[in-house]
Amino acid sequence: MESLKKQIEYAAKKARTVAVITGAGMSKESGIPTFRGPEGLWKNFRAEELATPEAFRKDPKLVWEWYEWRRQIVLKAEPHEGHKSLAEMEDYFDDFLLITQNVDGLHPRAGSRQLIEIHGSIHRTRCNTCSHKMDLPPVALEIPVKCERCGELSRPDVVWFGESYDEELLGRSLEFLSRADMVWIIGSSGMVSVPVYLAAHASKNGAFLVDLNPEEAEFSRYCDINFRGTAGADLPRIWSGIKEALS
Ligand code: NAD
Repeated sequence: MESLKKQIEYAAKKARTVAVITGAGMSKESGIPTFRGPEGLWKNFRAEELATPEAFRKDPKLVWEWYEWRRQIVLKAEPHEGHKSLAEMEDYFDDFLLITQNVDGLHPRAGSRQLIEIHGSIHRTRCNTCSHKMDLPPVALEIPVKCERCGELSRPDVVWFGESYDEELLGRSLEFLSRADMVWIIGSSGMVSVPVYLAAHASKNGAFLVDLNPEEAEFSRYCDINFRGTAGADLPRIWSGIKEALS
């Protein structure tokens, strides 16, 4: 592990343009369940059964109940030291971008600003009829949520399984990853294909890739370093070594 840390420090010292891609494992140590971990089930439903447009069409109240359960967990959670390390990183490189698959809002709460929430946010809704977006207050909601403008059914403003990504956000992510020197992938299983595509794109364009995850992931094969560790405990240690090396 020490030798991997040194290799990461060496690569970071040379890097000017740094990107980080985070997945659900990033927030695990803040108490937010991942989809594929043992706590990922809700009332015996798997995420793939609820996070789809078909499930919402069939039973919007059930899908909203699940989102409201998750949102209440997220509202009680706090960003951990790993989230704070990523927020700090912005100030240490010429160009920096954090692309998160997480919808929990913990990165912005930790202070990240150079951020793309590529899967949207659980704290926002989008009207099914007029597309009006609405920020949700930090209180329990009456569900299913209705649009404040037209009164019709609203949905969580997130990207569900089988849906397209926002083209502008995807384009900005790809453009940044084409010129990144170093890319970190933290806490993502890679079961969702677009983030794997982003990592492969960065690798093809010559970026040095670091995978930080307690387990092997889809990304691991593209990565120069596979660091088996966690976002909350190991990332702050790695980051403090890099800061020392940069100073
Ligand atoms: P996933 O549930 O498929 O995989 C989580 C990954 O995190 C696994 O590879 C696991 O080994 C790793 N992991 C577990 N504990 C970790 C830790 N402490 N530190 C670092 N890594 C750890 O999640 P995914 O690949 O992100 O895909 C599921 C999609 O579901 C995401 O794209 C996201 O949109 C959504 N999601 C979001 C949240 C959230 O916002 N917090 C939570 C669950 C799912």
